[in-house]
Amino acid sequence: MTRIVMKFGGTSVANLDRIRAAAAFVRREVDAGHSVAVAVSAMAGETNRLIGLCDEAGPPAPALDARFVEQDAVVSSGEQVTSGLLALVMQQLGYRARSWQGWQIPLKTDERHGSARIADLDSTALGEAIDSGEIAVVAGFQGVAPDGRIATFGRGGTDTSAAALAAALKAERCDIYTDVDGVYTTDPRLTKQARRIDKISYEEMLEMASVGAKVLQTRSVELAMAWKVPLRVLSSFDPPDAPGPGTLICDEDDIVEQNIVTAVTPDFNEATVTVLAVPDEPGRAAAIFTRLADIGVNIDMIVQSASREPGFANISFTTKEDDLDRAVEALNAVKDKIGYNALQSDRNVAKISVIGLGMKSHAGVASTMFQTLADKGINIQNIFTSEIKISVLINSDAAEYAVRALHEAYGLDKAR
Ligand code: ADP
Ligand code: ASP
Ligand code: MG
Repeated sequence: MTRIVMKFGGTSVANLDRIRAAAAFVRREVDAGHSVAVAVSAMAGETNRLIGLCDEAGPPAPALDARFVEQDAVVSSGEQVTSGLLALVMQQLGYRARSWQGWQIPLKTDERHGSARIADLDSTALGEAIDSGEIAVVAGFQGVAPDGRIATFGRGGTDTSAAALAAALKAERCDIYTDVDGVYTTDPRLTKQARRIDKISYEEMLEMASVGAKVLQTRSVELAMAWKVPLRVLSSFDPPDAPGPGTLICDEDDIVEQNIVTAVTPDFNEATVTVLAVPDEPGRAAAIFTRLADIGVNIDMIVQSASREPGFANISFTTKEDDLDRAVEALNAVKDKIGYNALQSDRNVAKISVIGLGMKSHAGVASTMFQTLADKGINIQNIFTSEIKISVLINSDAAEYAVRALHEAYGLDKAR
């Protein structure tokens, strides 16, 4: 009997009607003879609501501290509710089903509450349950930390629960049901010109996710790639008896036709910090970034430039806008120790990335990007590249315009 893992995101379980629609997809797989585990998100908007309550109730979260431990207890409840509800709906349809919380599996995580990583997933009991014909409805986004308490995986974490379950259960595939019918050449909410991609390599999807295409959490793609789990992105809004083809995320070798550029991905959740006049001597940059790492602030682009004052440097970096206040607060607290003069921050920036495996072997991708932006009068503040990606930082007011221009410049709007 083949095992299948299915995942339903927040909009796909937003209310009982949506949960019933999800149940119809689950039913289809079970009736086809598969052993099925389902990972579910909280109802749409619920995680935001619960985080908002924690913000109101508790002290601000300056570090990986007690605040995140209790916040995890609160926010994980969203997934607990939907797992129970979907199990009840399946039972109502005449199927055997039960809910599983992370600790019941057990799915063990590291100690980083709020952004935990999976340390171990013992799927023995779960595997036996689904092979006996019972549907396992797993609360996504959560596991149990070494302190014995619930830990969550960061926003979008149910994708990672699903991929990890699929790897551990040696599932034939992992189907991610969401509110779009696949992975697109750019966020379909930004332009009607976006096209669904039939097949995309793990590597490209990983870059897309890590630069901000929120359709899949980065860690879920890493896991699927490492364990060679075929991932599919599908719409839970399609009719269950006639689902669309979706997008298959698979090995590069399984894709016949490669594009030079596959997607354009914007990230509006960016901010820059510039630390002005840092003494230009060993250890100062280390002090800045160690402080930020200690409180779990992730850094992306870093640029050091000469300050007007001799013997001093300016250090700029980008971080997530959500982390900006914590980053600034933490650096203010060590101003004297680091010896810098002032801090500047800017929320009004966006990162636009173009991604494509073909960049490994084709020249001219960067020049097309820079020329297209120049022709539109868009100034580039910062550039960052990897083997299959070029990212630029620009003013966020120009971001949507830039996405549409680049999408067209690389011919992504042409039907394929
Ligand atoms: P879920 O709640 O199902 O996890 P998400 O909101 O996390 O859904 O992810 C789906 C959303 O991702 C889509 O509604 C879409 O706006 C956004 N998205 C961003 N980039 C892309 C892309 N390249 N292709 C498809 N969707 C994208
Ligand atoms: N409910 C969590 C979130 O909104 C996890 C998820 O949906 O994947 O981020
Ligand atoms: Mg998501």
